[in-house]
Amino acid sequence: MMKKVLVVGEVRNGSLRKVTFEAIAAAAAVAEGGEIVGLLIGGGQQEMAEEMIHFGADRVLLAENEQLDSYTSDGYGQALLQIIEQEQPEAIVFGHTSLGKDLSPKIAARLDAGLLSDVIHIAVTDGQIICTRPIYAGKAFEEKHIIDGPVLLSIRPNNIAVLNKDQTRQGAIQSVKVEIKNLRTIVKEVIRKAVTGVDLSEAKIIISGGRGVKGAEGFKLLQELADVLGGAVGASRGACDAGYCDYSLQIGQTGKVVTPDLYIACGISGAIQHVAGMSNSKVVVAINKDPEANIFSIADFGIVGDLFEVLPLLTKEFKQIIE
Ligand code: FAD
Repeated sequence: MMKKVLVVGEVRNGSLRKVTFEAIAAAAAVAEGGEIVGLLIGGGQQEMAEEMIHFGADRVLLAENEQLDSYTSDGYGQALLQIIEQEQPEAIVFGHTSLGKDLSPKIAARLDAGLLSDVIHIAVTDGQIICTRPIYAGKAFEEKHIIDGPVLLSIRPNNIAVLNKDQTRQGAIQSVKVEIKNLRTIVKEVIRKAVTGVDLSEAKIIISGGRGVKGAEGFKLLQELADVLGGAVGASRGACDAGYCDYSLQIGQTGKVVTPDLYIACGISGAIQHVAGMSNSKVVVAINKDPEANIFSIADFGIVGDLFEVLPLLTKEFKQIIE
């Protein structure tokens, strides 16, 4: 059965996040030939709307109101509910990002609808949307579907392949004025952390460091390799707790969940709480001087050695290959 599916797009630093295109691909699976409606809250993003169409959206709505310049759960929630009321989609897709994790349960509760969160795979059988999601910190997977009513999905970044970009695709872009009443939170100022380079949650390659890196100086070695490979630097909580790096780099149960093509774990023991955040990486390489370290049990390739010797060698070799 063809369905109308609404995709909530996400913008960061003036461009669309890749998870938006993955959400469109997820919507295409769910829609079964029905209409895919993109939504950008905040308005004024004509080029981004066109990009959503090139990646598979049929139509894009720009929800406009000056009170939507910065994200607030309250403001975006009001805007989204008005759009849902107008469009009556059968399914709504979010990225399983900070925004999606905040907004999707709120909207599901307001609509009294079911939410399938942190979805990594979608199959549609006899009109039934079956979603796969990891449970028990990634140790098992469950397949779920929603019996009745609209379906809300949040999809984990880096798991659903984007559709091929087609720059000849055309679609309507419509500005929609939304009404925002009695905002209970107002963003006065946004203070950005000085985190540069590749976004960790969307990185294809992650070089991650643990307590074995021994300090902020050691993290520079990881950054050098990440720069050569075009990757991002991550960390264990051990390293963050020790003050070697910022908590925004933490990967794991209480940090970010990542799914890169390549995860290089340096001086990380492989505690279950860390593994929960990276075990779905396509290829894991572990560098640890303890051959008994648990990280080797989930690694595809292991290097038993001192990371301070191994990392500079890897950086040098990759530099030669890439240049
Ligand atoms: P360690 O366990 O101390 O391991 C350091 C490793 O470095 C060792 O294996 C050692 O052999 C190796 N090493 C030392 N020197 C070198 C060298 N020169 N070369 C190569 N290897 C070397 N942890 C997370 O990471 N993410 C989370 O989200 C998270 N959430 C948690 C939530 C809860 C509720 C709890 C209780 C814990 C959580 N933890 C989390 C902490 C987790 O249990 C571990 O304590 C933490 O992951 C350990 O970090 P580590 O591997 O860097 O340090």
